[in-house]
Amino acid sequence: MGNSFILKGNICHTPRLGSLEIREHACIVCAEGTCRGIFDNISQIPEQYRALEVIDCGDGLVLPGMVDLHIHAPQYAFRGTGMDYELLKWLDRVTFPEEIRYADTGYAARAYEIFSNGLKKGATTRAVIFGTIHVRSTLILMDCMEKSGLISFVGKVNMDRHAPPELTEKSVSEAEADTRLFIEESRKRGYRRTKPIITPRFVPTCTGELMEALGRIRKEYDLPVQSHLSENPGEVELVAELEPEAAFYGDAYDRYGLFGREGNTVMAHGIYSTPEEMQRILDNGVWIAHCPASNMDLASGIAPVRRFLEKGIRVGLGTDVGGGFSDSIFRAVTDTIQVSNLYWRYIDRNAGPLKFAESLYLATKGGGAFFGKVGSFEDGYEFDAVVLDDSSLQSARPLTLGDRLERAVYLELDREGIVMKFAAGERIL
Ligand SMILES: [Zn+2]
Repeated sequence: MGNSFILKGNICHTPRLGSLEIREHACIVCAEGTCRGIFDNISQIPEQYRALEVIDCGDGLVLPGMVDLHIHAPQYAFRGTGMDYELLKWLDRVTFPEEIRYADTGYAARAYEIFSNGLKKGATTRAVIFGTIHVRSTLILMDCMEKSGLISFVGKVNMDRHAPPELTEKSVSEAEADTRLFIEESRKRGYRRTKPIITPRFVPTCTGELMEALGRIRKEYDLPVQSHLSENPGEVELVAELEPEAAFYGDAYDRYGLFGREGNTVMAHGIYSTPEEMQRILDNGVWIAHCPASNMDLASGIAPVRRFLEKGIRVGLGTDVGGGFSDSIFRAVTDTIQVSNLYWRYIDRNAGPLKFAESLYLATKGGGAFFGKVGSFEDGYEFDAVVLDDSSLQSARPLTLGDRLERAVYLELDREGIVMKFAAGERIL
């Protein structure tokens, strides 16, 4: 049987928001890429799986693969630089000049090879990714992602206003033709792990006509959608000016069928979502990709994640590279906790800080739901796992497994500490 085995180690996951479940030296059955239960020892494993190959991780920590719900592949090239701006200036001065380079497919091939190798080495097993407006370069990005073994959605970006001429679609009909070409071509390539996603960059760079066209294509091909929402005060003001008919920012997408309801939609940020917008996010089943590093770097603010969760809104985490400087979702987990502490302290004393187990849930099962049954080791979930060896972190005091897990995440052991990684049962590291 392909992708079938028993993995033995210290199994850690968060089957429910806020509840961390840890099983010491236990076994998970992975059958055809799907979890079939956690057992204390091999003798308890159901007969039909007992003869499977055993992968022994020793004293390693086994946790679900991390899900990055929001990352920009072309911005990986300048990560950790150009961080002294707010969103709209940062786009003009740092981001757009870099994205222009992706008209050159040779440059794109080099940059996307580095990007996909970077993600492969980290703890991320699934990602929702922005490319640029260029069809051929974005297909190169898909080739690289497919080769990495990660499972991803990749979008060709669309913009037809408020962008440099090199990044502005010549007309709505050309943008529509390009997006169709991108989808058709990606299907022809027969990827197993890489799928297209409809990607209006954000309302300031997309006219109503363009969004209407994208809404039509979304429906026709039944594809998910990714974009940005209520991120920065200057941006929110600009949207109100550009789209006076829209009741609120998210309504500008919803009018064109690009805000959940029928297909899955993930919107990054939602920092300035009004109560009406939050209600629409909930009603339409839109995911929020919470990207705390980017929100700090671009001085955007702090998203009311506790409020989202109390309301029942679906939330996952994103690195938002290069607004965020690191592609580590471990880092996003700890940033989420830290900004929630500040939100509670400075903004809303009724919105309690997020705990480690809650933030880890967002990074795994929370965002994983965008891909289906992903982000947990419960029966029936796709087997995405990261195995960590934390023996390099020495301590004189005895630590519980919970301590070790928390420490590994806080100290960002998602580089040198990863000894194995699986996505949908396939070993990719
Ligand atoms: Zn973004």
